[in-house]
Amino acid sequence: MENCPNCNESFKGFMNSNKLLKEETVEFINHYLPPEEHKTHYCEKCGYDKYYSAKDKYNDAVNRISKFQMNNIDFVPCISIQEPRSWDIEVIGLVTAQSTMGTGFYTEIASSWGDFIGADSKSMNAKVSTGESNCLNILRTKAISMGGNAVVGVDIDYAEVGSLKGMILVCATGTAVRLKNLDVLPIENKEQIAQLIEVSEEMKMIGKFSKVQL
Ligand SMILES: [Zn+2]
Repeated sequence: MENCPNCNESFKGFMNSNKLLKEETVEFINHYLPPEEHKTHYCEKCGYDKYYSAKDKYNDAVNRISKFQMNNIDFVPCISIQEPRSWDIEVIGLVTAQSTMGTGFYTEIASSWGDFIGADSKSMNAKVSTGESNCLNILRTKAISMGGNAVVGVDIDYAEVGSLKGMILVCATGTAVRLKNLDVLPIENKEQIAQLIEVSEEMKMIGKFSKVQL
């Protein structure tokens, strides 16, 4: 090929660095264009603006999806018991999550024992509780992306890690399930879960574009 099939720009000549874009980049550009504007090839010249406009749209979508997930993921039930009596469930599979955080123990203990016992244990509790909710949200997100809508049998464990034991590791495990009679949940949970499933499908679809380059 000596010229771009789209814009007819040449690929030949000394100092000419123009070349055809890779197939995956063409797919990415076309994904964000209306079907009537789709082309089978773009070169670096005619694809440049289209690539960056697709990249903007992709980033906007990822931001919108992440924000929605972050704000609504706790509508997904995540419970320690195996199966509430009113639930009709189908088991999907095991989900696990880990979250590590520094306790600040060895830096802050130097200041004074009083601080550690009082204020620091408070800040440590806050960190552990952040770790717990991170883990539970990971379990929920995994369950949704596996086609589930709830997590049951959740268990949380803690361990000190690191050579100076200055870190706390929170681990959570659970079973992703599909609750068939969603009517047992409050109406807002039902609605948010439906939307979470929708954005998760969208994320799966555009996820393949995460490494596309010009
Ligand atoms: Zn071109």
